[in-house]
Amino acid sequence: MKRVLVVEDNENNMKLICLVLKKHGYEPIQAFTGREGVDKAIEERPDIILMDIQLPDISGLEAVEQIRMVDDTQEILIIAITSYAMSGDREKMLDVGFEGYFEKPIDPLTIVEDIEKIVKQRNNDNTGS
Ligand code: MN
Repeated sequence: MKRVLVVEDNENNMKLICLVLKKHGYEPIQAFTGREGVDKAIEERPDIILMDIQLPDISGLEAVEQIRMVDDTQEILIIAITSYAMSGDREKMLDVGFEGYFEKPIDPLTIVEDIEKIVKQRNNDNTGS
């Protein structure tokens, strides 16, 4: 079963995302702040991380930078959840190690499908090179 670390400070969003993930057979792990997200990413080594950008302590960008500095986290697929995706943001997100981003509001009907698309894309990229 795939384990998904959800880093999100909004409780309603957290509940919604975790509910949908469970319904599709994923095991969610919750973190409500950036630092908690970094700690759980390193301790739990999830398969996937959904990372909110606006968090109460450090930003999602900083959190991912810290996660990617640790050895053996490169395999974790990290997707941003953002309410603002301006032109420069996408580049910045890719630079620090995100592999995709979803814009808020999250659509519970398509989020799992969207995650699986990014997983498939990564697998194709790996076999192609
Ligand atoms: Mn937030």
